[in-house]
Amino acid sequence: MKRLGIMGGTFDPIHYGHLVTAEEARGRFELDKVVFVPSGKPPHKKGYPVTQARHRYLMTILAVATNPYFEVSRLEIERKGYSYTVDTVSHFYETSPKDCEIFFITGADAILEILTWKNVEALLGETKFIAATRPGIDLKHLDAVVAQLPAHGSNAIYPLEVPAMAISSTDIRKRVKEDRSIKYLLPEATEQYIYKNRLYLENGIS
Ligand code: ATP
Ligand code: MG
Repeated sequence: MKRLGIMGGTFDPIHYGHLVTAEEARGRFELDKVVFVPSGKPPHKKGYPVTQARHRYLMTILAVATNPYFEVSRLEIERKGYSYTVDTVSHFYETSPKDCEIFFITGADAILEILTWKNVEALLGETKFIAATRPGIDLKHLDAVVAQLPAHGSNAIYPLEVPAMAISSTDIRKRVKEDRSIKYLLPEATEQYIYKNRLYLENGIS
């Protein structure tokens, strides 16, 4: 394996925005596989009642089941304490062949938070980022953020246009709570898992 994609996220729940982005990145950057890494306790979402990791993990497993190039890692959900991207990426470097290139796939909105990440300089030094644009994100803003990064980081971020998808986990959770349809926003198996386990019906219960 020469090129590995890592897609981190809360995946609460995973949806077609994530899946289309990962698939587009795989094709465009000729990735051998993409590993989805559901977060444990996300440092950027403190205070928000994130669904139990086992549910988010299983929803992700169900969602990627039909793509032979997609896998799911339990790394972050098994790690105690907060999960930091830099630690996750280091783990994949340690467990992959020496010449393997790692591409961290993220939405452009998440890249905009990059300056707040722990050890951002070390991370940029070793990892390539694929920043997917999503509706409402201005790429000029991304350029401005990239320009502020340490010199070695500026060519490590590749913007990737993905088919416009206004889907978000926040909207899906809201729809379930309001008893509105979530069909065609996420894979059917994941949709059924949500209903079977009565997720997102009330804040903080799931
Ligand atoms: P929430 O609404 O709870 O914040 P989310 O839909 O943003 O959830 P996350 O799990 O937070 O999903 O996102 C994981 C990664 O996927 C992030 O890098 C985010 O920017 C990216 N992402 C989320 N939704 C989309 C989308 N529709 N298109 C492209 N990338 C997306
Ligand atoms: Mg988000």
